[in-house]
Amino acid sequence: MSPVKRSIRRSPPRPVYFETTVPVVRQCPLCAVWLAAGVAEGIKAEIELGVPLDFGQRLWCVVNRIEMYALRRSGLIQMDPRRLTDPRFTTLFPQHWCSIRWQPIAGTAASPTWSEEIPF
Ligand SMILES: [Zn+2]
Repeated sequence: MSPVKRSIRRSPPRPVYFETTVPVVRQCPLCAVWLAAGVAEGIKAEIELGVPLDFGQRLWCVVNRIEMYALRRSGLIQMDPRRLTDPRFTTLFPQHWCSIRWQPIAGTAASPTWSEEIPF
């Protein structure tokens, strides 16, 4: 009896795409802040639409490790350190955290207050 020949036909590996979806505007179910929620290059992202960051707030986000995103027609773009140096990204939005209350008026360099209270 001959040994069983196994033909190993492996299909070529499928490429992994880092999907970017068009964001959906909705409210946060916990704190009712308006968000744009989507997937940015495979990362689940929820940005606060009412908070375009100024320079001081961007620095505060970098120091506190808050992700920043740019909003484009095709979807959200996560700002890595290389993209942060790109002058084409002028308007950035922060990742939503229920514990961070941003100042309602844009253009001030005041850092937001960080409350430790659980919002629900
Ligand atoms: Zn929230």
